[in-house]
Amino acid sequence: MSEPHFQRVALIGLGLIGSSIGWAAKRSGAAGEIVGYARSAETRETARRLGFCDTVTESAAAAANGADLVILCVPVGACGAVAAEIASYLKPGAIVSDVGSVKAAVIEAVAPHIPSGVHLVPGHPIAGTEHSGPESGFAELFDDRWCILTPPEHGDEAATHALTAFWESLGAKVTQMDAPHHDLVLAVTSHVPHAIAYTMVGVADDLARVTDREVIAFSAAGFRDFTRIAASDPVMWRDVFLANREATLDILGRFQEELFVLRRAIRTGDAQYLQDYFTHTRAIRRGIIDAGQDTPAPDFGRRNAGTTR
Ligand code: NAP
Repeated sequence: MSEPHFQRVALIGLGLIGSSIGWAAKRSGAAGEIVGYARSAETRETARRLGFCDTVTESAAAAANGADLVILCVPVGACGAVAAEIASYLKPGAIVSDVGSVKAAVIEAVAPHIPSGVHLVPGHPIAGTEHSGPESGFAELFDDRWCILTPPEHGDEAATHALTAFWESLGAKVTQMDAPHHDLVLAVTSHVPHAIAYTMVGVADDLARVTDREVIAFSAAGFRDFTRIAASDPVMWRDVFLANREATLDILGRFQEELFVLRRAIRTGDAQYLQDYFTHTRAIRRGIIDAGQDTPAPDFGRRNAGTTR
């Protein structure tokens, strides 16, 4: 147990990410007190039962009141409304952060509500599973994963340092980017891959000649991975694409161009092109494993999902 980095940490939204922050902060002692709020009475009740918050309040304002760090753990499209709700309860010197998968749109929605003397330091932990809700969180979710902070250009450096130390104590590695760059990087590494997975599962669903039973029984690893990704929370992903429209469309356009070339190589029997292309992509995969961001084990990314807290 380390000394708390913040006396009172408020988590607004108690799903996968909110509950995992709660568990990880309890594991490390990074927060003196963890206060949580979720929109539905059901989630608040579940959070009380599970115990990853010390207190669960009946309003977002009550959770934010007096907090040194407030983290918005709600879907990207809800961040602005939540910020408006808590704004007048934020104490001077408090830090407001978030975990949203898109940064520029969240900053645009949240920043206008932040009173002067309160520091906005947006963040995005690059860690997750396809599960959602308060039961899905676990303390190890952020271990050795990156958390990207996108502090404003002339923001308070001490606030960014304090938030960096907090995420490090949750097990994460922390880096900084500007928000538009973050959104482009994530469009490549996460948002477009999700769009492709959603589409591929939709395609299989459309193929009347392949029955449901066959799709399930003969799911090879590739399709099974797609179905796992395509099982992610619909509201979260709806908001991601709406909020990161430009970067997603840009990368989807490039994807379509590559796909056309690949199609042509298959149609014309260009064996050399196909082999070179797949050799190159294999090297990218090796790079991800070498960087410690995945393992070579064929576990389809499920090793942590919902197993421990
Ligand atoms: P989640 O498990 O679905 O939890 C979302 C939480 O937000 C729930 O407590 C929900 O309340 C609350 N909420 C939903 N809509 C709301 C609204 N309109 N107003 C107020 N509260 C609302 O989602 P999550 O996976 O933790 O994702 C939360 C954030 O983390 C998102 O911004 C997402 O982009 C980001 N993120 C997700 C992942 C991932 O892999 N899942 C990874 C990194 C970052 P109720 O339970 O009461 O409905």
